[in-house]
Amino acid sequence: MTNSTNICIPCGLCCDGTLIGFVKLDTNEIPPLKKVMDVEDENDINIFLQPCESFCKTCKIYSKRPKSCDNFKCQLLHSVENKQLKYGTSLKIIEEVKERKASIQQDLNQLQFELKSKSFYFQIVEAQKQLSKQGSELQLTKSEEILSTKIKVLDNLISTHFGISMN
Ligand code: SF4
Ligand code: SF4
Repeated sequence: MTNSTNICIPCGLCCDGTLIGFVKLDTNEIPPLKKVMDVEDENDINIFLQPCESFCKTCKIYSKRPKSCDNFKCQLLHSVENKQLKYGTSLKIIEEVKERKASIQQDLNQLQFELKSKSFYFQIVEAQKQLSKQGSELQLTKSEEILSTKIKVLDNLISTHFGISMN
């Protein structure tokens, strides 16, 4: 998440586990971050998982956020900054993503199989794998078909406007 005068404040989708599953860290960033959140630093994997523990409506460690966060700008933010997209239009897109996410979350809670991931991003990865496996072995139920379609629509919305794929 970048500067606070932009669309990031009402958005937060790259911090709350919707668009991104984990954040990569430099080795020197681990000790200070370990004081405020769980960091995975085994076998040369230096990351923390989303949803970010430092995210609560906004970044709680903004001045000390990792380089990956500081450098990250999604396509939507670029489009607003380059004046290719109006601020109000970007807010509507963010709102639509949040509404579609909430609807999918309700469906995920009704699934017959258990999802292990905490983040919406990885829950979608898990659900897609399971639905694809079930679809090739058995027939999907009507509600699973609806969920599968909802995920595709959301993925399309996110890749079109944010430049990120959930696959
Ligand atoms: S997803 Fe894009 S607009 Fe939303 S908070 Fe992250 S950088 Fe900002
Ligand atoms: S450290 Fe801050 S900017 Fe980075 S993911 Fe967490 S809340 Fe977002």
